[in-house]
This record gives sequence, C-alpha cells and structure tokens, in this order.
Amino acid sequence: MPIGKEEEIILRGIPISKGIGIGLPIFFASLEDDVPEVAIQKKEVESEIDRYRRALELSRQDVEALRKLSQSEGPPEIVSILGTHLEMMKDPLLTSVIEERIRDMQRNTESIFHCLIEEYKTRFSTLKDHYFQERVRDIIDVSRRILGHLRPMPLIKIGEVPHNSIILTHELVPSETVEAKASLVSAFVTAVGGITSHAAIIARAKGIPYVANVDIKKLKKTEVHSIVVDGSQGLVILNPSRQTLKKYQELQKSHQLNYKMLKSASHLKGETIDGYEVRIFANLENPKEIDQIIKAGASGIGLFRSEYLFFTQKALPTEEEQFVTYKKMVKALKGRPLVIRVFDIGGDKKIDLPPNHPDAKYFHLLGNEPNPALGCRAIRFLLRYPEILEAQLRAIIRASFFGEIHILIPMVSDISEVRLVREKVEEIQLDLRSKGIKFAKDIPIGCMVEVPSTAIMSDAIAEEVDFVSIGTNDLVQFVLAADRSNAHTADLYFSTHPSVLRFIRMVVASANQARKPVILCGECAADPAMIPLLIGLGLREFSVAARHIPLVKHTIRKWRILEACRLAEGALEHHSASELKKFLAAETVR
Ligand code: PEP
Ligand code: MG
Repeated sequence: MPIGKEEEIILRGIPISKGIGIGLPIFFASLEDDVPEVAIQKKEVESEIDRYRRALELSRQDVEALRKLSQSEGPPEIVSILGTHLEMMKDPLLTSVIEERIRDMQRNTESIFHCLIEEYKTRFSTLKDHYFQERVRDIIDVSRRILGHLRPMPLIKIGEVPHNSIILTHELVPSETVEAKASLVSAFVTAVGGITSHAAIIARAKGIPYVANVDIKKLKKTEVHSIVVDGSQGLVILNPSRQTLKKYQELQKSHQLNYKMLKSASHLKGETIDGYEVRIFANLENPKEIDQIIKAGASGIGLFRSEYLFFTQKALPTEEEQFVTYKKMVKALKGRPLVIRVFDIGGDKKIDLPPNHPDAKYFHLLGNEPNPALGCRAIRFLLRYPEILEAQLRAIIRASFFGEIHILIPMVSDISEVRLVREKVEEIQLDLRSKGIKFAKDIPIGCMVEVPSTAIMSDAIAEEVDFVSIGTNDLVQFVLAADRSNAHTADLYFSTHPSVLRFIRMVVASANQARKPVILCGECAADPAMIPLLIGLGLREFSVAARHIPLVKHTIRKWRILEACRLAEGALEHHSASELKKFLAAETVR
C-alpha cells in the first residue's frame, strides 16, 4: 500500500456495514456529479454543436418512444408529462441558447448545458408554487436524459473493479451492489444511504464494509493515495499514517479470524443452552450462491428475494426462465424448504430500462412516483400487472413438483391481496392439472407482515394464510415514519423501538393463536442484542443472510429460554427507544 506525504484526514459518516476495508479509491460518477469543464478550439465549435444536437435528438427519440408506449398502456398523467418534456426539448433554451453559448464561450457542451440548467433550477426553485416545483422536476428529468446521451457511461463495471477497490459514489443502488464482488471491493463509501436500504443489506450480506453520509465531493478535491474504511465506527481515513494503517491491518486480521472461528461452528444447531431449537434459514438474492447457504448451516431458504432475477438480467424473466431457476434451486436444497417471495419491485428497488426495452412499459410509472416507498410496490405492482404475477406463480407451482416450495407475498396492506393471490394460485393449479402438468399437493402461501395495517389485522390474516413472515426492515420504517434508505432519518430508525416490539409481540401471538408458523426475516434477526429479545418474544425461526448465520447461532447458544423471556419482559417495560437501547446494551453482553 503506497503511503504518500499527504496528511491523514478522518471523515465521519454513518456505519452501515461492519468491518475494515483498506484500499485505493475508485469514484463512480453519477450523471449530475462534477461535469468536467474543458476549453475547445474555434475549429472544434461546429462539431461540438453537432454532438449536442445528436444528444438532444436521441433524447427526443427516447421520450417519443416512451410516449407512444404510454399512450397505448400507461396512465394519462404520464402521457401528459412526456408531452411537456418533448415541448421543453424544442424550447430555444435547449436549442439556440445552448448553441450560442458554445460558440461564445468555447467550452465543452456538458459544462455549458450543466451551468444553464443549474441557473434555471435556482430561478425556479425559489418559487414555492406547486406548478413551478413540478417544472423544476421536469427540467431535472430532461437534463439528466440529455446529459446521459452526452456523457459516455462509466467505463468500469462494479463487478470488474481492480482488487482492493474502495468504491466512492453518491448513492449505491441494489442492482449495482448485487454485482460487487467481496474479493475485489474492499469497502463502499457514499454520500447518501440508509441503514436498511437494500444496497446496505447486500453490502452486509457480502461482508463488504460500508460507511454512508460522507462528503464525497470534498473527497474528490483531496489527493488520496489510500483509504481505510472502518465500517464499525463509521470512519473514512484518507491517506492513513503508517501507525494508523498498522492498527487497522491488525484489526482487519482479528475480524477475519473471529469470523473464521464462528464459521467453524456453523454446523451446530441454533439451540439455547437448555435445548430449545431456533431454526435459522437464509435470505438469498443470487441463486448462484445457494451452495454457500448450505455450507453456512441454513435449514433452508426463508426468503428468496426473487426480484433480483430481474435486476441481474435487466429484464423480467419469463415463466420458463423462472421455472428452470426455481427447479434448480429447490433441487440443490435437497429437501430443505425454499420460500420464494414474489417480485418485490419498487421502492428503492427499481431500475431504469431504455424506453424501447420490451418491459419499459411496466416501469415508467415507478420512475415517476413522488414517494416510492409508499407507492406501487411489490404485490400492488403485481396486481396492477397480473400477467407478471401469473407467469411467476405458474413457474413456482411447476417447480414445486421438485421439492418443498412456499409462496410469500410482500407488502400486503389488506387481506384482499392475499385472497387474490390464493385465487390466482388455484386457477393456475386447475389449468396445470387439466394439462397433465404435475405440481406439489401442498404449496404453503404466506404473508409478509411489514405494513402496520397487516400487523394490526394479523389475527384475521393468520387464519387465512399458511405462515407469517415478519419483515422488520419495512415494518420499522412504516411504524416510525423513518425512511429506511435515508441517512438523515437513521437516528429515528430503531428496530428496538418499544412500538416495534409491541407489534412483533402482537403478530407472534396472532400466529400462535391460529397455529401458524411465524418467521422473522428482517435485518434485526442478525443483531446479537436483538436475538435473545426476539426469542423471548416467542420467535423460533429466523431468516438472515448466509454470512450472518454463524453469528446468529453463536448468540443463541449463549442464552437460556427463561433468561430470554425475562429480557423481553424487561424490555417491554421501557417506553422510549433510547431507554430500551441502553437496557439491551447492559443486559445482552455475554
Ligand atoms: C423486510 O422488509 O424486512 C424484508 C425482509 O424485506 P426487504 O428488506 O426485501 O424489503
Ligand atoms: Mg420488505
């Protein structure tokens, strides 16, 4: 690791994924970041103008194609927004004004275009009127599209960065994070990002340290030779001194050793000292990692986030493609159960598809939602486009012939959503039977409890489903009205908030009353301070990322069931999140 003469600088952020990363910086640019300003010669002016006209024309074609699609299938609001965008692209502001400035200022188009847009944004954003706010949004949208055609996309892919890369970027998106390899990426550092965002979950599942809420722009202005990222404390150390480097290298080694030791005991049961078994399943995004799940000692897959099939191939998988994948997965599990959650698309899990992509028609609505976490996500999205749900259910039901498969419904907010899925399943079974296609007799259908209305109605819902899965990542954000993807609400997002504990207690009681299994698959099931508390609240099944299984089992093996119940009783007496946090910190050290 080269050590420069530069001074060591320590930046503080929010710790998102534990561990120590040491490496060299790689900046991943977002379109609005630092547009380079380059002087051009007089003879280059006309070709520069041509380049701008081409980018504008390509953007027009994009929007035109999108508008055509929306006219036949999309909601009328979208058609009207796209019409406005097309008008804006004809406006002199985006045609003659830009061209004049290129001529007068002899600068590259990106910088001129960027300055002009910034001027416009500033002018409009001081006006509080809703209409003008919407126009600002339109300007940003259109300018992003044009800039995207002006600037070549980043040459380097996240899955192909050199060894020991520290990825520095404005924001991590799940579809990119899932492609990162722990053998190449030493850490992530971002300007924005929340503690249970999907990108954060994946970083933790891969064991890649991650710190968010760091001033990336400032970092770009500093000459950086090497970086240490302390994902446990939320520190980013630029140009570490020899002494600092040595300290962190030792810490990194001890983390690795510790993990190796835990892993060596992963074949043991998740069992309390007094013999109560807690079954540990795995959460999975990438079917290729199924072997790691078995090696990690999982009892099966408790949550397959099937939407990642879509993110990795950047297209909706067909029924046949899904059937092949699910069949392969369930066969590899050799009798262990596979819980397939139907596509949870939307919220922070969305991708931009080019407008001429055959699946683009499903996604332009998602891209324009003002509040995506509360929008057309998961089961709401699937019921809006039943052909997507149907293809997925058919694939799952066909694959059920080859092993134990369960269907899980995400983001249920009303019991009717469960009923509609059950009806669909029955229709498909009838059809398959008539065609002589075999499937399992029993395919349990479960409901995710991650919306407060569903938790409150859990007694009624538990009667109608075959199992219940508590998704605390979303439940916490909705109960506390604290966005899981937003660094600025990280101090309000408490899995240990007393209200969350009461919700969990209520759902467990409802499931027990209806004699239905209940599993918890949120990130808090991997937190050693939460595990005994959750057991004390009555949970006997968890699903966590494979990487966390050894630690979860190790934690369970240190507790007696009675102690866990007493801990839960004590915890329920606290009325504020900070009191409860202190109580747990004091009571759960072992
Ligand atoms: C959850 O919300 O707790 C959950 C497991 O689902 P996801 O994190 O994929 O939203
Ligand atoms: Mg969820």
